[in-house]
Amino acid sequence: MTDLIVRGGTVVTAAGAAIADVAVEGGRIAAVGPDLGSDAREVVDAAGLLVLPGAVDVHTHVRVASDAEPDRFFQDSVAAAFGGTTTFLAFNNPGTGGSAAAGRTLLDGLRSWRARTEGDAAVDYAVSLVITPQLEDAIAEMAGAIELGVPTFKAFMVYDFGVDDATLYRALAMAGASGGMLQVHCENAVLLEALTARHLEAGETLPRYHATSRPPYVEAEATARAVALARAARAPLYVVHLSCREALDVVRIARAEGRPVFSETCPHYLTLDESRYLLPSEEAAKYVISPPLRAAGQGDALWEGLADGSLALVGTDHVPDRVAVEKRSWRESFDRISNGAPGIETLLTLVYSEGVAAGRISLERMVDLLATTPARLFGMRFKGAVEVGRDADLVLFDPGARRTLRQADLHHTSDYTPYEGRAVVGAVRSVAVRGSWVVRDGAFVGRRGFGRFVERELERLS
Ligand SMILES: [Zn+2]
Repeated sequence: MTDLIVRGGTVVTAAGAAIADVAVEGGRIAAVGPDLGSDAREVVDAAGLLVLPGAVDVHTHVRVASDAEPDRFFQDSVAAAFGGTTTFLAFNNPGTGGSAAAGRTLLDGLRSWRARTEGDAAVDYAVSLVITPQLEDAIAEMAGAIELGVPTFKAFMVYDFGVDDATLYRALAMAGASGGMLQVHCENAVLLEALTARHLEAGETLPRYHATSRPPYVEAEATARAVALARAARAPLYVVHLSCREALDVVRIARAEGRPVFSETCPHYLTLDESRYLLPSEEAAKYVISPPLRAAGQGDALWEGLADGSLALVGTDHVPDRVAVEKRSWRESFDRISNGAPGIETLLTLVYSEGVAAGRISLERMVDLLATTPARLFGMRFKGAVEVGRDADLVLFDPGARRTLRQADLHHTSDYTPYEGRAVVGAVRSVAVRGSWVVRDGAFVGRRGFGRFVERELERLS
């Protein structure tokens, strides 16, 4: 017998939208079509609502639980559910030191991360492994990680856990040869250190100098270098958190040449600008992220990139930092402030409101950007579409709702939202993961540990 029929909603795929029923059996979508009847254990009326595939957020820094904060991983997974995200990717980064799950080798780190997150999430999740100089011979272990269902890796061109060009080249080559993909943080470390030092020598320590210490050319140069390294290494390249037209131009040229270069942008670059850094310092610290927020108008260029296919998807770069904890060093100087901002719960809402409702992208393109393409690029074949045979990860979304985003209404483990007070159109009503409700009419009805680790395998991209 059919487990669930969602009746009469507007089912949206990357290719089109139509009023249809969705039947679910054994956690998978069994049928999509008109009038599937009501012969099911549960029938849910979705008239007037959009039926979307759950968002797949491929860029989060959800923290694993610790003795001091045992609910951190679970609670951010609940926030994901409320936002309509049914699968998220986190990172295991041994270079940051703070993570007990890090491990000293890539594979030790993976085993430890798996153990620490097992049975903890409310929605499905996966992990990317960060290649850092702190690991012993990480590149040699990449193939082993790919065999264990973890085919994506991250490398930073900046920070003390960043890699030099030679290491980045070797990691790209290994990924290209063994069916993996590298997610690269592209900024020029030499330039941003020089610009930071110049500010500090001049006594310019306020958060507003964060933006001028890493201007667009710092990002664009590194993006171009990563493209060249990937080209020589015969590897696909995934550029994380692209923030500006200058870097977008680099990606556009590479894609026009037919190279397997993919890039994401993030909701904050689409909806906020650098004027936030002129706020009083404690407030401005909330927006200290890297790359920084850019000049007004840059967001329009990114929306165009999303609309025309130059940008592959939107990820959040969710960092659950708190002003009162990780960011409290805002008093010292801009370069001492923890980088990052929360966003796991507001992804779908913001892209719908500012993208679809504002007329910048179509509904179908939004589904492609938030679900179908991230699932495909990151090797999750059962995720990302309301289609027969896929996991029944469903979001019932009310396109006519109007509300105001407030920290007080969110569920993430940060103590603020960058979007406080922002009026938005649209609201997530109910969310199912593999056919089981985790959010129902705005209330959490899921369970800790229901979320499963997703083993992934990439399509050949190059
Ligand atoms: Zn990030």
